[in-house]
Amino acid sequence: MAFTKFGLSHAILNGVRAMGYVEPTPIQLRAIPLILEGRDVIGSAQTGTGKTAAFGLPILSKLGSHQPQPRLLVLEPTRELAAQVETALRDFARFTDLRIAVVFGGVGYGRQREALAQGVDVVVATPGRLLDLMQQNVCRLDHIQYLVLDEADRMLDMGFLPDVRRIVQKCPRERHTSLFSATIPPEIETLIRWAMKDPQTVEIGARRTPAETVKHVIYPVSDSQKTDLLLELLKRVNYDSVIVFCRTKHGADRVAHLLKRNNHAVAVLHSNRTQREREQALRGFRDGRYEVLVATDIAARGLDIADVSHVINYDVPQHPEDYIHRIGRTGRMEASGDAFTLMVAEDARHVQAIERFINQKIPRVKLENFDYRYTALFEQGKPGQPGGEVRRITGARIRGGYYFGPARRKR
Ligand code: AMP
Repeated sequence: MAFTKFGLSHAILNGVRAMGYVEPTPIQLRAIPLILEGRDVIGSAQTGTGKTAAFGLPILSKLGSHQPQPRLLVLEPTRELAAQVETALRDFARFTDLRIAVVFGGVGYGRQREALAQGVDVVVATPGRLLDLMQQNVCRLDHIQYLVLDEADRMLDMGFLPDVRRIVQKCPRERHTSLFSATIPPEIETLIRWAMKDPQTVEIGARRTPAETVKHVIYPVSDSQKTDLLLELLKRVNYDSVIVFCRTKHGADRVAHLLKRNNHAVAVLHSNRTQREREQALRGFRDGRYEVLVATDIAARGLDIADVSHVINYDVPQHPEDYIHRIGRTGRMEASGDAFTLMVAEDARHVQAIERFINQKIPRVKLENFDYRYTALFEQGKPGQPGGEVRRITGARIRGGYYFGPARRKR
């Protein structure tokens, strides 16, 4: 099936071609026709499935050409996602005269006010800043025809639902609404009943199994050796670019300092960083200036960071879904990748929850020639004990195996 079969406008098809997309992804195959028909759509799909194009292409195609009032509003939970979706929509619409503005907090109002004052067709926004601008009468929603609530479960987690409701109330009742969410908790179900009309659900299965292209393993280690093991892994692994996930902002800062002291080019992404710092971190990581990105879950959620060769969970994620999200950064779009999780004794419960969630045992491994201090976790590896076998990894990394020789950077 090709994109040409959907009946998208020529300008948008040219945009798709320029993006280099050849075939629609499963969510695009199912959502694009529904949105073109004018149906409300619930997409239970996560980032990485192509959902931005799934709603962006049909809606931009329907918008046609420029008019001075916003007709599409996309709500996003974080500034990074808002910026990323704005860029994607701009790319899709590059052969149209549609105008797109992005508004989010943490930066000055001036440029966003100016962009809106010039008259835009599309507004991509985080809820708080949009409400501010609406109160200042800089942004009006009375011509909205298409409303997209993206990453709705994240907006719920971050406490944005009351703001979202206030915004939805300001949109005309006659409109099309799409909602994307990896999970549909009861609060989102209520929102759906309230905000949507006879919606069709397109389920691309909240992914519970890691992509087959990702090799993932656990490194049991004593608490006092976590940083040493991290440094040793970075020294020995043949990586291009790595994301190191930490549980807390403070932890992320600490790990980043440690890595910097050890001569790694490091960027940090967490919600205490200023907007400028976050953008700079992302840009630098994408263009290869930084080889390691240290991030917390909230900051990294949903970001489209391509070409990550390795993910290291310095801390075990507390929510099993986050494990899938984190390791999904590598092995995307069929490139193979590796994901390592450092596990200390108190992580046992969380690791169990993850393994139950993905219905898979994650292999425990030991790094060859690393001067391990004893931890009771190693007992689990003994034959007949729970926790499976602890394996040593040696040898060359050939197609999904591991290379633990000296670092060989490709860049
Ligand atoms: P998303 O889930 O919207 O964040 O998209 C994830 C990544 O997949 C982005 O880099 C998109 O540009 C890319 N992508 C989306 N749709 C396609 C497609 N049909 N073919 C190839 N890449 C795509």
